[in-house]
Amino acid sequence: MRALAVHPDVIVVVSGVWQTSCTAVRSGDEGFVIDSPVLPDELDALPTLFEQAQFPVSGLLATHGDWDHLLGKLAFPDRSLGVGAATAERLQASMGEPQRRLREFDAEWYIDGRRPLGLADFQALPVPGRLSIGSEGGSRGGGEIEVFPADGHTVDGVAYWAPWAEVLICGDYLSPVEIPMISVESGGSLAAYRETLMRFAPLVERAATVVAGHGGPVTRDRALAILAEDVAYLDALAAVGAEAALPEGRRSGAQKKVHAANVAGLDA
Ligand SMILES: [Zn+2]
Repeated sequence: MRALAVHPDVIVVVSGVWQTSCTAVRSGDEGFVIDSPVLPDELDALPTLFEQAQFPVSGLLATHGDWDHLLGKLAFPDRSLGVGAATAERLQASMGEPQRRLREFDAEWYIDGRRPLGLADFQALPVPGRLSIGSEGGSRGGGEIEVFPADGHTVDGVAYWAPWAEVLICGDYLSPVEIPMISVESGGSLAAYRETLMRFAPLVERAATVVAGHGGPVTRDRALAILAEDVAYLDALAAVGAEAALPEGRRSGAQKKVHAANVAGLDA
């Protein structure tokens, strides 16, 4: 696990598994933890890490309903979890799914002794919308996190924009390590994914840092380059399917598997 301070009010923790990102954002006397690392010792380390950095944890947020982003409750069991309205619907419709997927992962990697993931109560956030944070304002007078829709990877998804820190936390888009993954079985679609990238473009222009769901933080310029590469990949995928070229630097065996699944999903 790596921990990176990208702004005085923003710490990004990157898991040793899939480089899943977890972002702590603070403003005044409040703070949110968005998404989660995956491994038990990483989750166990979070309360001390944020306490030592003087990042209060008032609540948990998630970018979308894939299980590996939903583990914050294992680190902060008494904090409430906020999710976008579409994620709330998805969780409601398949209540046991994240817990089941977590158990499968733990069984595969011989991970033992995790307490059950209690996801029974969560709060649905209106999307688009705003979350107030901190009564005193951030170091640059923050106070509100903006919530934007971000669907296409799955049927649900939101991006969080912290304007005072110029940080966009976007979920499974704009990843420096993963090509666009269209999870058709979770309601993802190529067209929606592309539209989300288009909606992101002006936000990325204003951002100092973009935190992707996998791969941690990147600068605006890198994020803009990834955005262009990902739009080009999606257009090629739509036009020539399996023949589409993968973005440079994201052509490993694992990414070829994601591509093959994207191609299979085109006919679904
Ligand atoms: Zn993910």
